[in-house]
Amino acid sequence: MTKPSFKVCFVISEAEPLIKVGGLGDVGGTLPAALTALPQEMTDGRDVDVRVVIPYHDILKERQIPVKWVCNFRIPYDNGLFQDVYVSQAEGMDVPIYLIDGDPVRGKGVYSTDPIVDAYKYVFFSTAAVELFKHIDWVPDVLHAHDWHAGASVMKMKQMRSYYQPYHNVKMLYTIHNLPYAGGNFPAVLEKYGIEQAFAEEIPQDKRGCPMSLGLTATDMISTVSETYAKEILTDEFGNGFQYFLQKHSEKVTGIVNGIMPHQWNPATDRVLYENYDVNSLEKKLVNKRMLQREAGLPQNDDVPLIIMIGRLDYQKGFDLAFAALRKVLGKNWQALILGSGNPAIQNDCLALAAAYQDRVRAEIRYDAAFSRKMYAGSDLLLMPSRYEPCGIAQMIAMLYGCVPIAHATGGLKDTIIDPLESKDYTGFLFDEAKPEACADALSRALDAYADRDKWITLQKRCMVQDFTWEKSAKKYYDLYKSL
Ligand code: ADP
Repeated sequence: MTKPSFKVCFVISEAEPLIKVGGLGDVGGTLPAALTALPQEMTDGRDVDVRVVIPYHDILKERQIPVKWVCNFRIPYDNGLFQDVYVSQAEGMDVPIYLIDGDPVRGKGVYSTDPIVDAYKYVFFSTAAVELFKHIDWVPDVLHAHDWHAGASVMKMKQMRSYYQPYHNVKMLYTIHNLPYAGGNFPAVLEKYGIEQAFAEEIPQDKRGCPMSLGLTATDMISTVSETYAKEILTDEFGNGFQYFLQKHSEKVTGIVNGIMPHQWNPATDRVLYENYDVNSLEKKLVNKRMLQREAGLPQNDDVPLIIMIGRLDYQKGFDLAFAALRKVLGKNWQALILGSGNPAIQNDCLALAAAYQDRVRAEIRYDAAFSRKMYAGSDLLLMPSRYEPCGIAQMIAMLYGCVPIAHATGGLKDTIIDPLESKDYTGFLFDEAKPEACADALSRALDAYADRDKWITLQKRCMVQDFTWEKSAKKYYDLYKSL
């Protein structure tokens, strides 16, 4: 007799290929597929049936992605009133992805600069996601909610499972991808949807209405996206006011590092590269370097190490640290190419650096997935000085493309990069303190290492064969679900 499948529902704001703003979209798109692909010997002979619920963001409608209608229903709102929910399913996906639509979702960006707009959008979305199971003849064994956007779904489920029999056995996992982004503190919005605040005494007063607080306090288990970040969030430095609650419930907190999909990040098959290469044809990486230098308007020179930075221009990412560090190693030979968009002040800093060092720095202010791939392929070093980094995927992509990371030893960076001080099989260069001096020191070590060509090629090859596949992590998630 076949065993019943194990049912998991992701509630998340992004899932690529439909929608990706940051690393969250990678997880929403790839982890469900990795879970369903787990061999049965890893899942006690059971199929894993993962479904994903995301908002039907306006941009998806504008792009006219193919969808089919699933159901309409109403949710209670504002003491006796109702709001309409319209649910579709995206077609052609690896796993079912439900799209939640309704007034609070319409006419909005994926995220707003106005926190109250986002509060209405995501509390509506979270409420509707939990109500959805009443209408599709499918109730998950585990509700797996992600980040503040889905925090209210955890509290809503906790409330409903206490009185609504079909939800009695639903367990919950809440994954923190970025703790400081807790969502706005709007108790009045929660009240309209009949959702309780987080009344745990260790949660600061001014955070009790934040969706992140609802997720943390109502869930059965908490995970973060790397083992190191799971420890860091218990500290005053990284806990963002949640550390007291998290310390008290530390037995509920665990870390599982993100993976990436190897077929999506393979220089041997990546169609946008100037020339494909693999670990046995590394000389062709040089073709990519020359073409990248030309496209970026940098002097074409094989021997100068080309450093790249790619990411959201946010204080978290430490671009300011990197720029100060680069200024400290001007005596060394290097070029830098920056790609990013976000905070206007940081954009100006990028452009100012490029203007000051026109012979060796270029900055591209935009989001450009294709160009980012050419950068990973055509460069020698990735600089990632994030002040904190729950997991990070840029460093993993870089390694697979033979681009060696230099990074702050925090969160997932620490868990995925090995420094020469840790092992002779090192894969990058880490620095302990988020300070320009420490970053400059790691930069210097990397630039010196680059000078020894044979050793460098061995290092690049070691990076390229690292195993960052999802399978190990997907198995850990499955075991965690089961433990619930
Ligand atoms: P975060 O999720 O905090 O933004 P991650 O390192 O987890 O950081 O994920 C960032 C992803 O987004 C990487 O795949 C990176 O290449 C990509 N990315 C970030 N900024 C840009 C950009 N301006 N253009 C193209 N890709 C970008």
